[in-house]
This record gives sequence, structure tokens and C-alpha cells, in this order.
Amino acid sequence: MNDDQLLRYSRHLLLSDIDVDGQQALLDAHVMIIGLGGLGSPVALYLAAAGVGKLSLVDDDHVEISNLQRQIAHQQAAVGRSKVESAATSCQQLNADVVVEVYPFRATNEWLNHHLSGVSLVVDCSDNAAVRYAINARCVAHAIPWVSGAAIGFSGQVAVFDPRDSLSPCYGCLYPNLNDQQLSCAEAGVLSPLVGVIGSMQALEALRLISPFGSPQAGWLATYDAKAGQWQRWQLSKRSNCPHCNPV
Ligand SMILES: [Zn+2]
Repeated sequence: MNDDQLLRYSRHLLLSDIDVDGQQALLDAHVMIIGLGGLGSPVALYLAAAGVGKLSLVDDDHVEISNLQRQIAHQQAAVGRSKVESAATSCQQLNADVVVEVYPFRATNEWLNHHLSGVSLVVDCSDNAAVRYAINARCVAHAIPWVSGAAIGFSGQVAVFDPRDSLSPCYGCLYPNLNDQQLSCAEAGVLSPLVGVIGSMQALEALRLISPFGSPQAGWLATYDAKAGQWQRWQLSKRSNCPHCNPV
């Protein structure tokens, strides 16, 4: 770390659980963020601010005026622009040291298979069951940990999956059969700062995976009810017959 970095990251260096080694691990890390909407915005901004060395931003969407109520990585002037380009600009304005790669594509099984090499972890900020199952499948195959997040209406959830541990449950153990019939935010609405709460938790769990502190959260689901103002935690278990993590 050079003098500028020692100053920039000084509030991390003061944390004995992070210190120089933890910050160096963040600087050496490569995180792929899939989806640059309401969840992906705080994830990308916090990971850039925290000094994660390389970010790969993946989203095939463009910024619309109705996104600006909650997708804080995008400025009003970015309407019509690719979300990955817009979010990359915001990340670089925050921290020019971070390398940001942009992929204006949908994260399919095949695409992920070709782009996960060298990735330390994935943060799923998509709003699509097919993309989540693709991330789960490819992260299981490549033994890459990932942080799942979802938010709609007044409630959200965060879960960490770590296929490096063969006893750890996968997304398919939690949801064996989700389909895309669920409501989207465009249909059901979503409270603006709720995606900030959930996205910030995802960013925190990403940092925990890279620069380990406290208790590992893999295998836990945390749900947040914004109306009740309450978090709940649920321990997940691996299904012995899960076809997603026990391929036959
Ligand atoms: Zn499973």
C-alpha cells in the first residue's frame, strides 16, 4: 500500500479485525456484481469505496427515469445510458484506483462459465430467478462463494452461499423450484431505502468473505421487514437430494 492508500483506508486499518492484511486482501480481490439496479448500486459504490481492487459489472439494462427513485449509482443525466457504464462512472468518481470492467450482457449459464475465472466472489443483485439459478450452478461448479440479495415492497433478504464447503447449502437447497412468475419491483413497487439496507448488507457480507471478520454467515438467511422494523435470521440446511449442488 502506498501513502495515499494508507490514508484513504485508514478507518479500515484502525479495525484490528481488518488491519493491513485485510485491506490488502480487499485490494487484491475481484468481485463480480450481477445487476446494477437498486441492490447493485450500493453494492458497487461500497465495494469501490472500500477498495476492492477489481469490479466486474454485469447488466444488459439501460437507465430509466423510474429507476432513479432508488438506484443511486445512476445520475439523472445517465437516463438512456447503459447501467454498467453509468455505475462504472460513479465507482471511478468515488475511487479511481479501482479497476472496473463493464459487461452489458445478461449473466447466463454459458456467459458465467466463460467469465468466472479469477473472480473471488459474486454478488447477485439481479431480480430474476433464472439468473440466480445460473449463478448458483456456476458458483457451485467453480467453487466460488456468492452473496444473494432480494428486495420488493417493504421486505428483503440476504443469504451467503459458500460452495467451497461441501456441507454448505446452496440456493437450490433453499428454493428448489422458483420460477419467474413472482412479481417484480416494476409491478409491485419497492421502498427506496429498502434496497439500500439490503444492498449494504450484501456489500458487508462481501467484505466479510474477502477479509474475514466475525462469524462466517454462509448457510444463513437474514430477512428484513421494513414495516415491522425487524430482522430475522434462519439457519439453512443442505438437502441431501438437492439436484443443484449434488449433480448426479
Ligand atoms: Zn443445493
